[in-house]
Amino acid sequence: MNNYFVILAAGKSKRFHRNLAKQFFNYKNKDIIDHSVEKSLNSKLFKKILIVTNNLNYLKKKNYARSIIIIKGGKERSDSSLIALKYLKKYKPKNVFIHDAARPNFSLKLLKDLFRNLKQNKAVVPIVSSKDSIKYKIKDQIFNLNKNNSLLTQTPQAFRFKELYSLAINEKNKISDEATLFINKNIKIKFIPGENKNNKITYLNDIDTSKTYFGIGFDIHKLTKDKKLYLGGVKIPFHSGLKGHSDGDVILHAIIDAILGATKKKDIGTYFPNTKKFRNIRSPKMLKPIIDDLYKLNFSINNLDINLICERPKVSKYRDKIMKSISKLTSLNKNQINLKGKTVEKLGLIGKEKAIACEVIISITKYD
Ligand code: ZN
Repeated sequence: MNNYFVILAAGKSKRFHRNLAKQFFNYKNKDIIDHSVEKSLNSKLFKKILIVTNNLNYLKKKNYARSIIIIKGGKERSDSSLIALKYLKKYKPKNVFIHDAARPNFSLKLLKDLFRNLKQNKAVVPIVSSKDSIKYKIKDQIFNLNKNNSLLTQTPQAFRFKELYSLAINEKNKISDEATLFINKNIKIKFIPGENKNNKITYLNDIDTSKTYFGIGFDIHKLTKDKKLYLGGVKIPFHSGLKGHSDGDVILHAIIDAILGATKKKDIGTYFPNTKKFRNIRSPKMLKPIIDDLYKLNFSINNLDINLICERPKVSKYRDKIMKSISKLTSLNKNQINLKGKTVEKLGLIGKEKAIACEVIISITKYD
């Protein structure tokens, strides 16, 4: 198994982000480069994995496995690639794969396909066809390129080390990938199907940087004969209503606290203290500014799950009405809301119909 996997990660990628090179940007819960590191390592196809970078200190702190070597890269991609090949020469490799760190989405199957085809060939390169129409420009004139004859080359590209090394060491021009070396000398490359999802990350908006958060809310109010009962913004005929500074709507209060929890904004008491201003306020009026703020900050609600804890009224009887009201107040579809009724076997204050409680879990996603 004298095979080596080279990850080129020396690019500054100014087009991506001002301060952070893209290979170190977080993508699907890890640095972009670590998708390639882990896949090549887990494939068990390679003796060593060589990372070529200009961020040595950052990568050395990661304490990678011992089979991973980190070396300093060059100015251009082709410089870094040549530095890697020169470094590897002492191991007398049989095969070498060259890969761009900015392609985190290749599959293990692709690695195996490349490897299998390398047994009969000196160079194996994955290609995809262009989904867009391609034009090219010479001076001021634009020409059409026949899309059906155009191939887009991807990485990882797989080579016999000896052939690649001798081509690379003698190349005077800056090349954009190793396949170019073989093409320039008219040496046969075996092209195999690449993967559309294995596109190169160039711009920040090439990747999904949305983040999802969860929040939990809980509320309980005593029942009292001299108030009307409101649940989820709906007036419900009942022997008592919920006591409180407001209308005591436990469902809406728990939703507010769940939202505040998910967005790390303290709690309902911070925004609605027991002052004169909020005395007898209806809870939809409390929820509205909280919801408006949430949407203004580019959050979107994925779903709401609600447990209403009471002996009576029967939740099933009012479920549709309450869900409809919540859907209106939150601008959610009814299929994003679930309302469950939970009795407490007549135990305690809730069981004796002296209080009603509610708990809510919310999931929200922030899109940039
Ligand atoms: Zn409350």
